[in-house]
Amino acid sequence: MIFQSCLLEWFEKNQRPLPWRKHYRPYEVWVSEIMLQQTQMDMALPYFKRWMKELPTLKTLAESDEKKVLKLWEGLGYYSRARNIHKSAKEIVKKHDGIFPEDFDTILALKGVGRYTAGAIASIAFNQDKPIVDGNVLRVLSRLYAIKKPIDVSKNKSLFWKLQEKLIPKGKARYFNQAMMELGALVCTTQNPSCAICPVKKFCKAAKTSDPENYPVKQNRKKSVKVTASALVLQNKGKYLIRLRPLGGMMGGLWEFPEWKLTKNTPMNASQILNKTKRLANNEFSTEPLEFLGTIKRNYTHHLETMHVFRAHLTQPILHSRSAKWVAKADFKKYPFSSAHVKISSFL
Ligand code: SF4
Repeated sequence: MIFQSCLLEWFEKNQRPLPWRKHYRPYEVWVSEIMLQQTQMDMALPYFKRWMKELPTLKTLAESDEKKVLKLWEGLGYYSRARNIHKSAKEIVKKHDGIFPEDFDTILALKGVGRYTAGAIASIAFNQDKPIVDGNVLRVLSRLYAIKKPIDVSKNKSLFWKLQEKLIPKGKARYFNQAMMELGALVCTTQNPSCAICPVKKFCKAAKTSDPENYPVKQNRKKSVKVTASALVLQNKGKYLIRLRPLGGMMGGLWEFPEWKLTKNTPMNASQILNKTKRLANNEFSTEPLEFLGTIKRNYTHHLETMHVFRAHLTQPILHSRSAKWVAKADFKKYPFSSAHVKISSFL
């Protein structure tokens, strides 16, 4: 099977059931794209639903007052985006009888619509063979082709746009563009890409290297401090110990399996990592032996952390307080974890 078929087949089975994917109405696709600029899907979804409940059509948006539009946008930031949608809706009603224009250049001329958004509306709403390249597509393309040209150099950007355009199977841009973005969001993630379950692994050059995370290449990537850490999954009668990170600190309010920083910028071999983790684990929980579960990488602004994950069984019950709980795996979904600790839970 060729690359496009593998990807499209995967998308058909695995795509998230997003509200604008039900009918692909141009108005809904447009609003969703603007909301998703610099906003995570989980955060944007309730805003989208509320917006569509209050302003279900382009005409209702055009007729609405700005205060209401801004109220519906409250919390999403970048309020000029909401004002631009509002102005453009009025323009579409005035110039196009309230019917969203299909012509690419007319879409591009709308206020607040750039090349990416115009491509997204043209391809997703109208199924025109137009490429779109967002952060997810950039990452997937750079890994698929192991592209060494830095993505943060503007002259290289056109390479990715051309590549994406060439890859679109005729008449299938709606699904192909979304499939590339969905793959980047769900499988080919910035950190810890899930190559083992990737539908296009056999076509991917970066997957054949030891570290696909080296892509995309950035020229201005600052040299980051390398931190070695370890985490411990403590098990007792089918439950696992999780702790609450202190509010106000980094990732405060999220839950985690106990973890420790081991060293900064000093390479450690496997037995040093195991011994140090044993000492730390014994200090807090008096437990061993430790079973190695896997390794996870986390990329912070100024440091790159490699976390080694171990498991141990505890015979005597300890600690159950507001900030430490024994929880069954089925109940993990009730607790917010950072993405690294979600990945740890997938080891279990
Ligand atoms: Fe990304 Fe891995 Fe899939 Fe390549 S094989 S596209 S690196 S998830």
